Amino acid sequence: MAYEILNSLLKEYEKKKLNAELEAEKRKDDLYEKVPKLKEIEGELNSFAINTAKNILKNGSSMEEQEELKRKVASLKQEKENIFKELTIPSDYLKPHYECMLCNDTGYVTDSNYNTTMCSCLKQKLLDYSFNKSNMSNLDKENFSTFNPCIFSDEVDVAKYKFNISPRKNILNIKDKCIEFVENFDNLNYKNLLFTGNTGLR
Ligand SMILES: [Zn+2]
Repeated sequence: MAYEILNSLLKEYEKKKLNAELEAEKRKDDLYEKVPKLKEIEGELNSFAINTAKNILKNGSSMEEQEELKRKVASLKQEKENIFKELTIPSDYLKPHYECMLCNDTGYVTDSNYNTTMCSCLKQKLLDYSFNKSNMSNLDKENFSTFNPCIFSDEVDVAKYKFNISPRKNILNIKDKCIEFVENFDNLNYKNLLFTGNTGLR
């Protein structure tokens, strides 16, 4: 079951990662259509990158040529930055806007020693899932302070309730026990609570 939940969460992650990347592509296409100069710069930068790779492979370029190439790349990048500034576009505008900056919506992070661990966002999602499943997500509305004993009868009727105290008194005793349990939650010697009843009762 836990594996299935993780699997479906990872599928969700894959989808939102892809969406963020597609949206970034769309922003790029739209911006390049509005500002063709940016597309030109991008094209030039790409061809420089290819040429640099080719030169490295051939080992054929002189130091001067390499320096010249570096200068051109830096000046193109500067030109691109200036256009962004002029248009007051944030510098990360064309980057995918992932929901989680830590894992880029992959659900996993790799540290400097190349150890991969689950990202805190995915851990939280798994926790949320268990929390909702345990019917504890309504704690802001359903808690001790909103507990209303008046919905229980104040009438003592041994024949009907099989108790010599009223259901209200009984539920208030149970409430006190529960509060005591919560207050002693860290106490290892304190006994657990067990609720029993017919299926479907809560
Ligand atoms: Zn994350």
